[in-house]
Amino acid sequence: MPKKNLEVSLISIPDNLLDVIYTACRTCYSPDGAIEIYTNITDDKEKKLSLIKKVISSGHYSTIEHIQLTFAINNISRAATHQLVRHRHASFSQKSQRYVKEKGDFDFIVPPAIEANSELYKKFTEQMEKTAQLYAELVSKGIKSEDARSILPNATASSLVVSLNLRELIHLANLRLCTRAQLEIRMAVKKMCALVEEIEPWLSEHLVPKCERLGYCDEDNSCGRMKTKNG
Ligand SMILES: Cc1cc2nc3c(=O)[nH]c(=O)nc-3n(C[C@H](O)[C@H](O)[C@H](O)COP(=O)(O)OP(=O)(O)OC[C@H]3O[C@@H](n4cnc5c(N)ncnc54)[C@H](O)[C@@H]3O)c2cc1C
Repeated sequence: MPKKNLEVSLISIPDNLLDVIYTACRTCYSPDGAIEIYTNITDDKEKKLSLIKKVISSGHYSTIEHIQLTFAINNISRAATHQLVRHRHASFSQKSQRYVKEKGDFDFIVPPAIEANSELYKKFTEQMEKTAQLYAELVSKGIKSEDARSILPNATASSLVVSLNLRELIHLANLRLCTRAQLEIRMAVKKMCALVEEIEPWLSEHLVPKCERLGYCDEDNSCGRMKTKNG
């Protein structure tokens, strides 16, 4: 069955996110010990943010690696999750195609460009139905799901839990919010960032495509949003 709504939920973010980053920042520059810095931390949010912004903008990124974020994602294609799992500093737990047998008519994601064309959409969904029938036949004839899955397409819907630190989320955003990234992963990362920004709005200036961080586009094939490296 075609699955329409990519769902992203932020299932874990530290309550004391600012305090942890602030402690990490101050520990680098203060004669006090890290424990004393954390124990006697200021209530002044602006003061904390001011130091944190200064430290991040000077590229001292280890301070934000202490913040671990976890997302749960539903209705995302294996094509998109394959791109997501290329990010090596993130941790993943994904629905297994070995342990979980697909149902008769398995769930799949239709790219919006195909959905918008009624003729192609019909052909696409018919192809999925045929694939589902062959998958069911393979399984019914004793083929293990770990082998039967070879027939399943990149469009197969998946579900996963992703954990990553704040530095890696910023890196992910820089790469995958770029218009050169594929639409589905761009939408997934956009939702991840929006959920974090709801809680920590000050992060919105970092959760941007790389051109906004660099001040120019370094892609060969620029979308034109920003000037390229060579003007
Ligand atoms: C628009 C777009 C198109 C792409 N097209 C292709 C493609 O055609 N084919 C393809 O195979 N991939 C492609 N990719 C994937 C890309 O090559 C990266 O594998 C993916 O984006 C992960 O990025 P990363 O390695 O920077 O990040 P992460 O794995 O998240 O790592 C973060 C950073 O840590 C450092 N790092 C991590 N591991 C190492 C290491 N082993 N050695 C040194 N430094 C390390 C690097 O500085 C890296 O930038 C594409 C990505 C994008 C965004």
